[in-house]
Amino acid sequence: MTLFLVLVLSLAALIYGISILETYPDIAYIVLLFGFLGTAIAVYALVQIRMRLSKLRIVVPPVTTTIECKKCSFKNVREFQRGDYIFKELEPCQKCNDKMMITAIYREVKEKEKERFPY
Ligand SMILES: [Zn+2]
Repeated sequence: MTLFLVLVLSLAALIYGISILETYPDIAYIVLLFGFLGTAIAVYALVQIRMRLSKLRIVVPPVTTTIECKKCSFKNVREFQRGDYIFKELEPCQKCNDKMMITAIYREVKEKEKERFPY
């Protein structure tokens, strides 16, 4: 929220600087300088925050469900769905038509994960 305040104040300074440019050019230049600096800092900080937020969204690893056939050990891996639990019986096997069962539910954690959070 502070950033938006800085941005608004900087933009106000820019407008004020332009409006007094003809009457008080010396003051106007200083006001404009601060206005530009403030705007640049606020925009830069906002972009940084946006990027961090979008990174955080990507970081959330997907939950995977492994379905296995007890008879022929045919394995199927798919995205986790609501209501999935281990040992839940699902649709018949594609190969032998026997009932398939959820054998594992896990979150895929990649090696890169640790590097993304240096703090
Ligand atoms: Zn099978």
